[in-house]
Amino acid sequence: MNAIPAELFDWSQNAPSHLFYQTGGRRPFIERAEGVYIWDAQGRRFLDGSSGAMVSNIGHGNKRVLDAMRDQMNATTFGYRLHFENEPAERLASVLSKLSPQGLDRVFFASGGSEAVESCIKLARQYALAKGETKRTEVISRFPSYHGSTFGALAVTGYGPLNDPFAPMVREMPKIPAPRAYLDRDNSSDEARGLRYADMLRGKIEELGPENVLAFIMEPVGGASTGALVAPDSYYQRVRDICDDYGVLLIYDEVMTGVGRTGTFLAAEHWGQSPDIIALSKGLGAGYVPLGAMIARRDIVDPVVANGGFMHGYTYAGNPLACAAGLAVIREIYEQDLMANTARIGALLKSRLDNLTARFPFIGDVRGKGLLLAFELVANRETMTPLPKDANAFAKLVEYAYEEQLIIYSRRTHGGYEGDHFLVCPPMIATESHVDEIMEKLTKSLDRLAGELKLPVNG
Ligand code: PMP
Repeated sequence: MNAIPAELFDWSQNAPSHLFYQTGGRRPFIERAEGVYIWDAQGRRFLDGSSGAMVSNIGHGNKRVLDAMRDQMNATTFGYRLHFENEPAERLASVLSKLSPQGLDRVFFASGGSEAVESCIKLARQYALAKGETKRTEVISRFPSYHGSTFGALAVTGYGPLNDPFAPMVREMPKIPAPRAYLDRDNSSDEARGLRYADMLRGKIEELGPENVLAFIMEPVGGASTGALVAPDSYYQRVRDICDDYGVLLIYDEVMTGVGRTGTFLAAEHWGQSPDIIALSKGLGAGYVPLGAMIARRDIVDPVVANGGFMHGYTYAGNPLACAAGLAVIREIYEQDLMANTARIGALLKSRLDNLTARFPFIGDVRGKGLLLAFELVANRETMTPLPKDANAFAKLVEYAYEEQLIIYSRRTHGGYEGDHFLVCPPMIATESHVDEIMEKLTKSLDRLAGELKLPVNG
């Protein structure tokens, strides 16, 4: 064996980092993780109250998933898809087809959410081309929204700071407002509001010319950009009907909501919806492997395949190790009945968050589905006036919670209304006692924030 150059692997924790993705200062090194907890290098134990970035759905260190990965690793970790098929990818595609709405039984794998979204957009485009509808290029999305960091996914993302630097390079796609009905102060019913927001899609399609519109992409429950935004029930079917009226494909970005996070395998199920194409990622690899997937209607895929094939692909697509992990993750969700637990613990956590509004009048809204939950802080609940930006509440509260060894996830919203929202999304294995621990730490953190920002506290 060759000698390794003396300094090649020298490294010290205290040396300046060569990575530059970290913003907001350095964090402790992660040492190990198990269940809902993460330990840092100093032995401190954190409750993972956001499952990372809504990723670690079945918790950390699941032995059966690790065993399934080890078994697969002992066989092979890679087989290039143009040379070999692999059983884990076939099996996972079969499972995903069975868990998707009728007719959506064609699966394409990727390594993350952005890649999955790119795949959806490119499939939609090639479907239009296969049908001879060559003018269809506009993909309408919502503002704010988050669909990923790659150029295509960024074009449909509506989140100013992420879009702006690339404005000259990306053809920004047309946007309609996200259905933030909780901000509306008119007297209309929830149902009427839902229809009003959905009808903005019709307005936008008409404005662009229906023959130019390819697809509409939305997060069925909003994620990082809107903070677990749930539209009024009437929204979902109306959007479906409008897409059908104009032959516009409906893409559900279920990267965050999918694989059980909202208490059903897909969030679409809450509204009995059948989109045309679905993107999955986060909870599919669940923090064990990078994995994403697109699930599409067979009658969309078939013409594309017949027309010369899907001009798109990733080297790691359908990687056997990643797919074996994804299969084991879904098996765990069923074996431990984690979707039922998510619905039950999610309802409990949401009611406990609702109760916080009595003590903290600066909590303006609590929302979400299953264990995709969020609350929003405001200066005035009646008018939903946001806290001033320079109060930096979104960063401060996360920091205070971190000091209590609770991890939550926050963003300052964009898109006409700027507010501070916080996602509280523990893994789907969370129990009542974890909810107690989250609430205790969160209450302390909110008390501290109130003191710091001189916000009122009751009792
Ligand atoms: N879509 C949604 C709804 C997301 O929440 C995310 C990630 N936050 C993405 C797409 C992009 O996924 P990734 O970071 O894995 O590329």
